[in-house]
Amino acid sequence: MVKQLDSYEEKALSLIKARGSVLQSELWKELGLDSREGSRLVQRLVRKGLLDREEVVMNGRRTYKLSMRAKNSREQQVLVSLDSIMDLPCIVCPYLDQCEPGNAYEPATCPLMDNWVEILVSGQREKLSPRVGHRS
Ligand code: SF4
Repeated sequence: MVKQLDSYEEKALSLIKARGSVLQSELWKELGLDSREGSRLVQRLVRKGLLDREEVVMNGRRTYKLSMRAKNSREQQVLVSLDSIMDLPCIVCPYLDQCEPGNAYEPATCPLMDNWVEILVSGQREKLSPRVGHRS
């Protein structure tokens, strides 16, 4: 999902990205916002998963250190569903360990693989069964 950012959000992210981290109280001042507007801006960016906020004490006052969300965050994970290969004929193939280019069994000449690809391309995946394999 593409997140819409307003101009203040874009400026805040650019500033934080350029410096690595910024104190929340400094960010407000640099963007010309008051503390209430600045706090709301930061909350929006945290909710969108774009910022990490760590509580710190500076000169005896509590504030937050803001940094870009870590690379291994939820936002940047790629989720892969096993559904996409559950009906792949190789999963139940008794020749899987012998199947490679140049052997009697190879993906390039396998009729089951051809059939699987043709059905996927035709958009009729419901015809596939995960338990169909080579007949011996
Ligand atoms: S022979 Fe066909 S079904 Fe079996 S592992 Fe090779 S490509 Fe997959």
